[in-house]
Amino acid sequence: MHCINVLWVRWNYKRIRFFGLVALPKATSTNEQTKPKPKDVIIMFNYEKLSPFDVYMLQSKAQLMRIARLDHNLKGTIFADPLSNPKVAKNAKYDNVLTYPIHLAPSTLSGFNTCAMASEGCKEACLHTAGNPAYMKGKNSARITRTKLYFENRPLFVAILVKEVIAATAKAAKLGMALAFRPNATSDIKWEKSKVIALGMQIVVTELIHMYAPEATIYDYTKEPNRKTPNFYTLTFSLSENNDLAASNELLNGRNVAVVFDTKRGKTLPATHTLNGKAFKVIDGDLSDYRPEDVQGVIVGLRAKGDAIGDTSGFVRKANQSVFLAA
Ligand code: SF4
Repeated sequence: MHCINVLWVRWNYKRIRFFGLVALPKATSTNEQTKPKPKDVIIMFNYEKLSPFDVYMLQSKAQLMRIARLDHNLKGTIFADPLSNPKVAKNAKYDNVLTYPIHLAPSTLSGFNTCAMASEGCKEACLHTAGNPAYMKGKNSARITRTKLYFENRPLFVAILVKEVIAATAKAAKLGMALAFRPNATSDIKWEKSKVIALGMQIVVTELIHMYAPEATIYDYTKEPNRKTPNFYTLTFSLSENNDLAASNELLNGRNVAVVFDTKRGKTLPATHTLNGKAFKVIDGDLSDYRPEDVQGVIVGLRAKGDAIGDTSGFVRKANQSVFLAA
């Protein structure tokens, strides 16, 4: 008596594109389905037991938000508004890129560790602390709830994320803008390894985002060295007070490194900075947050913000070079 559940999958150059779940009436035969385009291969899965993610994907975004609110106390969305984070909002203004960040609770603030390689200095100076202190309590609470949802009900978290990716794609198209996602705005999760079961197989979150938004870029900063990511997911390594060697290795391997300097807002950053005995060119990473188009082999200089101002751990580097970037 159960319906046959059919998952439509397009095989497109070695990539499987998941279009959603379709619950068919009992009597419908596959021959009555719309004929596939010549290059498409339609694969049918007949499962009596769908994965939790598959089941969530059958529901609307509004239904999923209701479940998340009732069961997990999640009051907002997974991605923040592209204009709510002042740094990310610069991407829209200067690069015409609509950028959606995810703000999770950093380090162990939620009871779950989202930053495996966090140092004492970066935890103290985390960007999480930047912004208007008047909103900090509310922001903390929302980030903790969102993080708990990710760890306690990942299929629901990822299903809402996918629905938001679909909505973001439509919005960017309507505005005539490029689209980007920054899933670790205040965390350091390896999204390229974070999995859900969909279509009877394991799929990582970054691949799911790419399937639904193939033109979009994904980018993040990370303290995890040697991460291997697909070309649509750009990483900038992030310097702490204790990882100079790893940072210089990342630079030598072609990955840029972000360095927070004690340069004041509106002042010029040093033109070069020496890491592990080698001087690297510094570019101004505060002009925009959009990292995928940065030149390679450079240090992305950032000015200290939030609790990073006044850092004494060594996480924030002194801009005491003699050569400075032109204003
Ligand atoms: S600076 Fe990065 S790694 Fe450190 S606590 Fe914040 S989000 Fe985590």
